[in-house]
Amino acid sequence: MNVYDSEQIEKILAPSGYKMNSSFEVADLIIVNTCAIREKAEQKVFSFLGRLAGLKRRKPNLIIGVGGCVAQQEGDKIMERMPHVDLVFGTHAILRLPYLIERIESERCSIVDVEMSEIIEEFESITESPLDRIDPKVTSFVTIMRGCDNFCTYCVVPHVRGRETSRFPESIVGEVRGLVKTGVREVTLLGQNVNSYGKKENLNSFPQLLARVNEIDGLFRIRFTTSHPKDLSDDLISAFKDLDKLCNHIHLPVQSGSNRILKRMNRKYNRELYLEKIGKLRNNCPGIAITSDIIVGFPGETRADFEETLNLIKEVEFDSIFAFKYSDRPNAPAARFANKITEQEKKDRLQTLLNLQEYFTTKKNRVLVGSNELLLVEGLSKKKVDSDDAQSKYQYVQWTGRTETNKVVNFIQSEATIPRDRILKGKIVNVKIEKAYSHSLLGKPAQVEPTLFTLKGEQSYAA
Ligand code: SAH
Ligand code: SF4
Repeated sequence: MNVYDSEQIEKILAPSGYKMNSSFEVADLIIVNTCAIREKAEQKVFSFLGRLAGLKRRKPNLIIGVGGCVAQQEGDKIMERMPHVDLVFGTHAILRLPYLIERIESERCSIVDVEMSEIIEEFESITESPLDRIDPKVTSFVTIMRGCDNFCTYCVVPHVRGRETSRFPESIVGEVRGLVKTGVREVTLLGQNVNSYGKKENLNSFPQLLARVNEIDGLFRIRFTTSHPKDLSDDLISAFKDLDKLCNHIHLPVQSGSNRILKRMNRKYNRELYLEKIGKLRNNCPGIAITSDIIVGFPGETRADFEETLNLIKEVEFDSIFAFKYSDRPNAPAARFANKITEQEKKDRLQTLLNLQEYFTTKKNRVLVGSNELLLVEGLSKKKVDSDDAQSKYQYVQWTGRTETNKVVNFIQSEATIPRDRILKGKIVNVKIEKAYSHSLLGKPAQVEPTLFTLKGEQSYAA
């Protein structure tokens, strides 16, 4: 979501003459877009801001702005801790940025703007036109809703992003169309709980929105995140079968395998319901990849609760997992819960869980060896690979892409199947999987899908 918001910031500041630059030394304006989901992310913000103090002393006209969730949460306190910061703007203040920066430029004042509004229309005006990039992207995030109404007891999001609000479907479709024109072939629709998209506003349902996005010519793939297990509907499960562009992968965060902990987390589903939904997904969408988020060491999590989480992992056999040590967040009720777990215990539990999951991730990857997978090529992988062929003096270029099930596959462009100068970024390539590692796969291209290879302006997607 922050990646998407940073792009909106880039767009909204363009008319004021600001352009992205990779060097802090030459920058006139530095904006730090922050995340408050865990304490560690927040600590990083302050250590980074601390490092900018010297630069500001050398360049007094430099403007330093702090946005995002830490800005929303801490407001004035950021200025107190970091007096070299000129601007603190909250999650709902992005649209006001040009005006705020103009004021700082002319008055050399400092400003804190953390006011929250419930109006979504204001964002629509920025999102319409895509960024004009020199190196166009193949995949893009598109936020379809903001905020959250679920109030899980550990979570800061409802407190810093405000109430759940959905964007208009027309505007989302318009934005995706615009992105496709710039070379984007895959979009990930973002919301804290996409299943409740449009409900409050009486707009399209989420599956209806997906069907509209599915109609967009030139778009190859659709993903979304996140679907809350309590609201995962039969209609959405059917969408995986009915919509050809919707990737066969769902991220379904379970957080814990213990009913006692799920209740204390206010997740509003239990282990049995979660497993029932997994069963439905697997019955209706064969081969669907399932990934999840898990928190270890939630206050009061006993060894037995943790074992239940491990058992759930064994039962489901997720394709992969993001696992986190529980972290107290200001305003989140769990920060006041008793029976906190020690840092060492959380660390040990996290390691045990990751080791277990590694086994399943590798196992799932190994199953793919020998099979053919269609990849959407995202670009060159960093590695240059020496040819196996003794006759060849070339270093082969290695491309990287993802399967529909979101697995990263690297492959070498071999002369036998695809001419070496062929630019594959943004193309669908049929790859035979040859090797499995724990976090990626290695393959060899079989052929380029001819039907998907005839796009106009092919050269403009050059890597
Ligand atoms: N809306 C999404 C989650 C967004 S936050 C959902 O409900 O699934 C992304 C992940 O961060 C969460 O799934 C959770 O696993 C983790 N997370 C959130 N708050 C946390 C906290 N206080 N400590 C540790 N992990 C946390
Ligand atoms: Fe946080 Fe729960 Fe909302 Fe996800 S659903 S953003 S975890 S409050």
